[in-house]
Amino acid sequence: MPDERFLPPPRARWPEGYRCAAMLCFDVDGETTALSEDPALANRRTLMSQCEYGPRVGVPRLLGLLDHLALPATFFIPGYIVEQHPRMVEAIVARGHEIGLHGYLHEKLAYVTEAQEEDILLRCIEILTRHTGAPPVGFRAPWFEVNPWTPTLLQRHGIQYCASAMGDDVPYFHPNGLVEIPGQWMLEDWEQFAFNADPAWGFIPENCGKVLDLWWDEFEAMHDFGCCFVLTLHPWLSGRPSRVRLLEKLANAMKAKGGVWFARGREIAAHFQKHRDARREIDFDALPFPDSANP
Ligand SMILES: [Zn+2]
Repeated sequence: MPDERFLPPPRARWPEGYRCAAMLCFDVDGETTALSEDPALANRRTLMSQCEYGPRVGVPRLLGLLDHLALPATFFIPGYIVEQHPRMVEAIVARGHEIGLHGYLHEKLAYVTEAQEEDILLRCIEILTRHTGAPPVGFRAPWFEVNPWTPTLLQRHGIQYCASAMGDDVPYFHPNGLVEIPGQWMLEDWEQFAFNADPAWGFIPENCGKVLDLWWDEFEAMHDFGCCFVLTLHPWLSGRPSRVRLLEKLANAMKAKGGVWFARGREIAAHFQKHRDARREIDFDALPFPDSANP
């Protein structure tokens, strides 16, 4: 029976005939999520222990899962967490995963000046270079929010891509040539799983089966439409046992589907820099002329 579903052409040409791309991101915020809100929260020991669970327990467990699945990932880590957890950084780098910038103390960029943002960027490039052995090429804004001047600062300091915007479902170029790898809130674990009593964070943690359905449905349609599936997970949330199983089930189903280019951010950015026409625009001009008999 022929496939009669709506199947538009893939949004991009991916390497070696892949149908879509998948970028698995881990934002290792650790204690910075709380400390950037209020440094006095350092005395809330239960809150801090929940945050510390990410780098201490979540990351080694997730690295084990990635080894088991033989999949690459991209870790965005605030400079402060890189300094506090050198052994974690070493373990991530030793496996060939990418480490990208994520602020120093997970600063809300909407509340800093351009000069302050540039100082934070330079400080973090130095820290990541020193701890990973190579300068970072990728950036994910803390809280997913950038300023109008952010692409200029990133390009000025040798960053190849930003993974912070949400206006598309395949990478695109900023006017200055910087690659943007967009994400979306639906493919984030914070909205599904985060909870803290005081300060009040998140909602009632979701059932993993429901989240698997949500993410799988989006992945399957993105596979059909030839998109870039960017999943963003926080080890303090997704390093918990049942959620590690959730990621295992999702990743195995994605592998079984076939045609998925599992790639680090730096590889996706390099693909678009090398093949600047790889992206297929979606706009009104690209639509076929409507059949007047079928309004
Ligand atoms: Zn973050």
